[in-house]
Order: sequence, then C-alpha cells, then structure tokens
Amino acid sequence: MVYAYNNKPGVPGFMMVCAYNNKLSVPGFIMIYAYNNKPGVPGFIIVCAYNNKPGVPGFIMDVVLTSGCSDALHQIISVLANPGQNCLIPKPGFSLYETVARSIGVDVKRYELLPNKDWEVNIEHMESQIDDNTTFIIVNDPSNPCGSVYSREHLLQILKVAEKHKLPIVSDEIYASFVFPGERYYNLAGLTSEVPILSCSSISKRYFCPGWRFGWIIIHDRNNVFEKEVRGALVRLSQRVVRTNSLIQSAIKSILEDTPQDFLASIIEAVAKNAHHMYREMCKIPGLQPVMPRAAMYMMIGIEIDKFPDFKDDIEFIKKMISDQSVLCLPGQCFKYPNFFRVVLTVPQSDITEACTRIADFCKKYYVA
Ligand SMILES: *Cc1c(COP(=O)(O)O)cnc(C)c1O
Repeated sequence: MVYAYNNKPGVPGFMMVCAYNNKLSVPGFIMIYAYNNKPGVPGFIIVCAYNNKPGVPGFIMDVVLTSGCSDALHQIISVLANPGQNCLIPKPGFSLYETVARSIGVDVKRYELLPNKDWEVNIEHMESQIDDNTTFIIVNDPSNPCGSVYSREHLLQILKVAEKHKLPIVSDEIYASFVFPGERYYNLAGLTSEVPILSCSSISKRYFCPGWRFGWIIIHDRNNVFEKEVRGALVRLSQRVVRTNSLIQSAIKSILEDTPQDFLASIIEAVAKNAHHMYREMCKIPGLQPVMPRAAMYMMIGIEIDKFPDFKDDIEFIKKMISDQSVLCLPGQCFKYPNFFRVVLTVPQSDITEACTRIADFCKKYYVA
C-alpha cells in the first residue's frame, strides 16, 4: 500500500490512492478506511494506513510519498530507465523532465504538441519517436507551459500508442484539479485497464505551497507489470534518502479535507478571467498569436519572429521586453519551443492589464509589417 516514513500509531500515516483503483477487487489490495473520496478532492482518496506493514499478506505498495512532484519524477525516471535508454517527453514541455533524465544518463526524445489543435499530441509523431531503447512516455495533462487539458478521446489515443508499444506512462498530474470552469479533466489511469501508469503529483500548485515539499507517486498496475522490479525499486529508492516531510504528512489530512471548497474554485476563476482578458488583448497585437489555455496557470503566445527584424529569436525578444518594459515572461526555448513565450496567469488582474499594455507598446515599437 503505502510506504509512509511517519506511519506510526498516533501520527497516522497516510496513503493516497486513486478512487477508481480503490476497489476491494484489486488483488491483494488492503483498503482500511477511506474518508475523503468526494468530488472537490478529485482523483484520490486518502486511506489510513495502520494496517499496511510490510509482511502483511497481500501487501501492495500503491503510493510512495515524496518531496514534491520533482522528487517523484526523479524517483520514477531513476527506476524506469537505465543509462543509455530513453523516454518520450512533450515538446513544448516542462524542462525538469530532461534535466532529471539527463542527470542520470537517460536520453529524451520529444513528441510534438500541436498549437493549432489546443496542444494535442501529434500522435504519428509520438509513435515515430519510439525506438528499441524507449522505456516510457511522460504525459503532462494539464500542461505546463501550454495550459491545455485533453479530451477523453485524445487520452485514449495516447493510451493506444502506449499499449501497442508496451510502454508504461508516467503521468504528471500536478494540475489535475486546476481546470477552468466548463472544462473537464480525465484521469489517464481511469481510462485504461492495460497500460501501467505511474502518476505523480504534489500539493505545491494546488495549494500554492511549493516550499512545503510534499508529493506522491501512485502506482496503477492492474496487471502486475511493475510487481517484479518496479515496485520494489520504488520502495528501496524511497528508503535510500527519506525525503518526505513528516510535519506536512501529519497535516495532510487537514490540508486535503479542511481547505474550504471555494479556495481553489475562486483561484481558478481568477486565473481563467486573467486568461480570457490576456487572450483578448494579445489577439489584438499584430505579430503575436496566443493560444487560449483551458487549465493550469499559463498561456503560450506565438511570436511571428520575422515581423520583428530587430530580434533573432524568442530569447532576444524577451530580453528586450524585460529591459524596455520590465515585463518578464519565459522564452519558449525554456520549453524547447522557439518563437513562443509563456505567460504566468496567477497575478492580480491589474498586473495582467498593465502587462498587456506594456506588451502591446513593445510589439508596436518593433513590429515591421
Ligand atoms: C511545478 C511543477 C512540478 C514540480 O512540482 P513540485 O511539487 O514543486 O516539485 C512538476 N511538474 C510540473 C508540470 C510542474 O509545473
């Protein structure tokens, strides 16, 4: 079930298990006490783990607690691939995937996301990137930096590729609960009974507390593909350097249960409002092509770089925008996606309005039709 460092009586250890995986029919699964599987805390329930000691017959480790989602990714990549092998990551995508993979000698190959299709995966391209050394596919839905969230149908297409090539999926779900009003998030592991999935998340983004360093890996493995090697390796790795924060572990029940329902809803509403405002304003600026996000906290904006002859690429464009206007955005190259830039939408609305004006002034000055 769970490996919880602080799993003693009195300081209840917790584990988090995806609700759909939490059926007593799952072989060997010991479910003790579920108290938080209501909508509003989507995707998982927390189960008290007083009975989940190693040695208990049928023990299955379903959750590994980690020091944030970054640590979860580090552990997963370390376990799933050997040096010289590779994994597939999205382009544009969160830069940590490559940083972690390369740091342990694992190569990355990138599959394209399509800006004119709400950043859906180019499925043919994804498939073409798979070779004999490919060990897993990372999917980040909703996406940083794109702010996209995939439809059920599209996730099924991705799962089909993984199933066909017998590749597990690593699902970075840190923005799972962060979708704009009217949009819907589907949990990848809930859509397959074949593809083994290691999902990872943390409280960092959802509760705006990245410094608290608390995350987890959930093992979705209905067919026991991970049983022989991966589960054991994850346990051993989580024991090598114990990274979980016991203080937060003690508080996690309250964090997940007692946070007012409208806390997240009101933030999402504000971010969605910023997104709509920003999108409207960016559409008016000659030379820019924003892509409207549906989730997470970001928007990607394309730069028609040939219309800005003063700048060679997005990095020069952004550097100048910082020095001219004090507007700081990340150039697309940070996500291996040149001639775009990423805007963060979690700022007060007045700052978004001001930033729009400054970006417009900046573009007007350098645009050549
Ligand atoms: C911020 C972020 C992470 C890292 O989260 P921590 O819990 O702070 O380590 C991982 N993946 C994505 C997509 C992120 O945006």
